[in-house]
Amino acid sequence: MKKYKKKKNKKLTLGSVIVIVLLLVAYFVIPGPEPESVPSVSLEQVPAYSGEPFVVLNENIPNFTQEEYTTESYERYDDLDALNRCTLTVACIGKDLMPTEDRGNIGQVKPTGWVTAKYDFVDGKYLYNRCHLIGFQLTGENANERNLITGTRYMNVDGMLPFENMVADYIKETGNHVLYRVIPVFEGDNLVAHGVTMEAWSVEDNGEGICFNVYVYNVQPGVEIDYASGESWLAEAVIGEGEDAKTYVVNTGSGKFHDGACEQGQSIKTENKETFETTRSQMIAWNFTPAGCCNP
Ligand SMILES: [Zn+2]
Repeated sequence: MKKYKKKKNKKLTLGSVIVIVLLLVAYFVIPGPEPESVPSVSLEQVPAYSGEPFVVLNENIPNFTQEEYTTESYERYDDLDALNRCTLTVACIGKDLMPTEDRGNIGQVKPTGWVTAKYDFVDGKYLYNRCHLIGFQLTGENANERNLITGTRYMNVDGMLPFENMVADYIKETGNHVLYRVIPVFEGDNLVAHGVTMEAWSVEDNGEGICFNVYVYNVQPGVEIDYASGESWLAEAVIGEGEDAKTYVVNTGSGKFHDGACEQGQSIKTENKETFETTRSQMIAWNFTPAGCCNP
C-alpha cells in the first residue's frame, strides 16, 4: 500500500514538472500582447508643481498609435515591477466595462509607500488614498493591486477625479468608446509615485468628445512627502512679511476659514470644526479659502 502511494506521488511530481516546463516554453516562445515600448514621460519634461493639480503634456494630444484605435472594449493592468510598484494600465472603455455593482472593499491592498498619516486640513483627514489608476467608475476594478497606488487625497480628488468624471459622463451619454491610459511615474526606486500621466481619446468621433494628455502631481498642499518611503510631515509654516500667528477656525467640510472671533465660524458643527493658531499665509498654503463673512 505504502509503496504504491509513493509511486503515485512520484508520477504526479514528474507530471507537474512536465507541465511547468511546457508553460515556461510557452511563456518564452509565444509572443504576448505587450507593445514594443511602453510610452512613458520623463520627469525632465514635467515642470515642478506650482499650485495647479495637473499640467498638460504634448499639447493635450495623447500618444496612442493608430494600431491602438479600436471599438472593442478591453482592459489591461500590467504586472507589478520588481519593487511591487504598479506599471501601466490601459483600456478601451465602453459602457459594457462600467460597473453595475457598488464599489467593494479595497482596504486589504497595501500599495508601495503606504504609510498612514492624518492631517486636520486634508479633506477626510487621511493624506493617502488607495488611488485607482483607472477609476472604479470606469472599469469597475476593486481590489486589483495592479491598479492601486498610494496617492494623495489632493491628487485623487482634485487631480484625477475631474478627468475620470468627464470620461464616464461622455461614455454614458454617447455609448462610444474611450481609449484610456494611466501610467504612474516613479523617480528611481521611490515607493511613492511622483505623479501619473492620464491620456484619453474617444474613438468613434476621433477625439472630438474626449481628448487629453495630462500629468497629475501626487502632492498634498501643506504636506511634505518623502517619495522614497512614503513618510510625510507638515510643511514648514509659511510666514509672510510682517505676519503674526492668529486664531483661525476652519470648516473642514467646505475648506473655508474664519477669523477666530467670527460668529459664523463659531457656529460650525463640532465634527467639522478645527482651530489653528498660525499665519494667514499658512492657511492659504494649506489650501483653505477665506470665508466671505469675516474675510480673514
Ligand atoms: Zn467668518
